[in-house]
Amino acid sequence: MNSGRLLNVVALSLLLMAGRGRLFCQAAPVLNHNLVVLDPAHGGPDSGARLSEHLLEKDVTLALANRIRAALSPAGITVGATRDTDTFDLLPDTQRAEAANRSHAVACLVLHATNNGTGVHLYVSQLEAVGAVDYTYAEQSGAHSSYVPTPWEKAQATSISQSLRLASDLGSSLTTSGIPLVEARASVRPIDNLQCPAVAVEIAPLVADGKSTSVADAAYQQRVADAIARALMFWRNHADAPPARGASATPEDWLNALPAHPRAAAGAAPKKTAPKPAATPPDSGGTP
Ligand SMILES: [Zn+2]
Repeated sequence: MNSGRLLNVVALSLLLMAGRGRLFCQAAPVLNHNLVVLDPAHGGPDSGARLSEHLLEKDVTLALANRIRAALSPAGITVGATRDTDTFDLLPDTQRAEAANRSHAVACLVLHATNNGTGVHLYVSQLEAVGAVDYTYAEQSGAHSSYVPTPWEKAQATSISQSLRLASDLGSSLTTSGIPLVEARASVRPIDNLQCPAVAVEIAPLVADGKSTSVADAAYQQRVADAIARALMFWRNHADAPPARGASATPEDWLNALPAHPRAAAGAAPKKTAPKPAATPPDSGGTP
């Protein structure tokens, strides 16, 4: 190898090392305090639950998302929606989660609707909370043997404490608005794949004084949307910065983030194919 070629190889190696360093020493993404992601669940061929003869869940979730967006706009909060129409070429759940993760939104809400119960049901992922993985430390200390990145199926695990705080803010605002509340832990798809503070919000009929108000009622939807918007305006001012690369933004990120040593040593663990999203309760059967 002549000296010129050797220099090129050294330069390429340094570039690769620098690139690798960037991957593992990447600073925590800056939380966008003025961006909220809304995922109006279902859409297109997936109509969700049939709430009445002429009322489909996918239409209610979209209407609610549009009302929340309009309520947030005057406060300077932008809404990134995973869909804003009801076409038949919508993103599947995994890609909705990927898009949300790239946005570094201050909150991600997955919207559902049901005929069961009353008021609004709030669900936070069932995943056990874990702390952020310190990639910089793992890289510098050579602690590769004990280094395990948070997998795509558990991307939400590092945000659980924040999601619980967000649910608490939402719950307080809804209760203040006189809307009955149910709070529970359930891995409503694709919440386990979300890196942001995330809550699934399911609107149910408003049952009060022997009268039931449909989830399609415009005034009721607006009341719920306004309460959610008020909670998000409060939340953006006290949400914490996200953990440093504590989880994978996409299934591919998770594979790419594996350091060379454990990738080889782990053998069968990381495959070239994207990990399947975690099995979650179906839309019916007691969960949204
Ligand atoms: Zn649903």
